[in-house]
Amino acid sequence: MAATSDAIIIGAGIHGASLAFHLARRGMRPTIIERGTFAAGATGRSSGLVRMHYDLESDARLAWASFRYFRDWPEIVGGDCGFTRTGFLQLVRPAFHERLRANIEMHQRIGIPSLLVHADDLRRLAPAIEVGDDAIAAFEPESGYADPTATTAAFLSAARAMGTHLVQGHAVTDITTRRGRVTGVHTAGDTYSASVVVDVAGAWAGGIARMVGLEIPVQVWRHDVAYIRRPRGSGTIHPTVIDDANSMYFRPEGRELTLVALEDGNEIGDFSPDRETASTAAGFAERVAERLTRRMPSTADGTLHGTHSGQDGITPDQRAIIGPAGPEGFYLDCGFSGTGFKTAPAVGIALAELICEGRSSTVGLEPYSLARFAEGRHLVGEYAYEAIWR
Ligand SMILES: Cc1cc2nc3c(=O)[nH]c(=O)nc-3n(C[C@H](O)[C@H](O)[C@H](O)COP(=O)(O)OP(=O)(O)OC[C@H]3O[C@@H](n4cnc5c(N)ncnc54)[C@H](O)[C@@H]3O)c2cc1C
Repeated sequence: MAATSDAIIIGAGIHGASLAFHLARRGMRPTIIERGTFAAGATGRSSGLVRMHYDLESDARLAWASFRYFRDWPEIVGGDCGFTRTGFLQLVRPAFHERLRANIEMHQRIGIPSLLVHADDLRRLAPAIEVGDDAIAAFEPESGYADPTATTAAFLSAARAMGTHLVQGHAVTDITTRRGRVTGVHTAGDTYSASVVVDVAGAWAGGIARMVGLEIPVQVWRHDVAYIRRPRGSGTIHPTVIDDANSMYFRPEGRELTLVALEDGNEIGDFSPDRETASTAAGFAERVAERLTRRMPSTADGTLHGTHSGQDGITPDQRAIIGPAGPEGFYLDCGFSGTGFKTAPAVGIALAELICEGRSSTVGLEPYSLARFAEGRHLVGEYAYEAIWR
């Protein structure tokens, strides 16, 4: 079979789905080609945190421009993204207190609801959490988490209603070019023609880029997650927390569970993106339980409900690569480095603007060019914390 469309999007994770939705809204008729089923990659394993606290202004702007989607999902997209407002706390160790203050000021300047809170406020906001008297945190009262698979399904359903063609169960095997321009892709049995092809293949993005002769610095990042059932009577539901002092994050999952994962000990390398994601690293459950108990002592009597792993594409500065690269008509939308769920709505709209109108106006995508690596311009926060994953 041979089919022609306005754009081909390779990968139906949250970013492929968001891009399809925003291209379709601009009157384009894209085709998304997914080798498995939608949300089969990082998206289906994502912890789904929705917060705006970043140490890099362009990341914070992307998260903030995305936030209104999560908050007002039925009106903007339709369907349900499963957004649950829990409030969000960013705790940092004392060495980063001044940077935390500066980042909150930056967030407030761009309109993000974020407040500096002290130990007394923290004890009121999250009675289950133990903090020292000198603790400070950023508090985002509006933030929380969403359901990444439901979010992707809702974007896809709206995109399809506007004419997007979704092909599942077919892997792109080759990208065709003519005189320096992309002309389409092949799967095992079919040919698809388009003058725009977008690599939104998550941990597989490097292999797709190689199909047009591009080497991109995207490795595989593997991340383990646990669900702990809190003991009955252990107090109120806690907010969503990034706890830099203990190198972990956690959030409620429903009323009884806490999802928890670690910022350290994540495997990063050139291993296969096809590895199974059912198992976690040896000793992970013990490490995570010990860390969570340090911050929420009542969870010492909790029980392990389950664990899983997931894999995303990661770049050397742990920031995405978005924009044109290689042959004309080829775009990268990848390297989301373990934090790309919450920014997907705004990345989709900005890249759709770039493709259709030649310029991203909602949030500028210039910082995310592939060229920054060759030019030695790694993206670093203005008031930088450590790299998130270590
Ligand atoms: C365990 C875990 C927890 C996370 N927690 C958070 C969080 O709390 N908050 C947050 O903001 N982010 C989080 N992230 C990161 C976020 O989930 C990812 O950045 C985001 O989901 C990436 O989406 P994507 O669409 O780029 O990639 P993916 O979801 O990986 O989608 C890529 C798709 O491409 C397909 N594909 C690959 N090769 C081909 C081919 N040849 N042909 C066709 N299709 C192909 C794959 O099957 C896959 O479905 C987490 C990630 C993981 C793994």
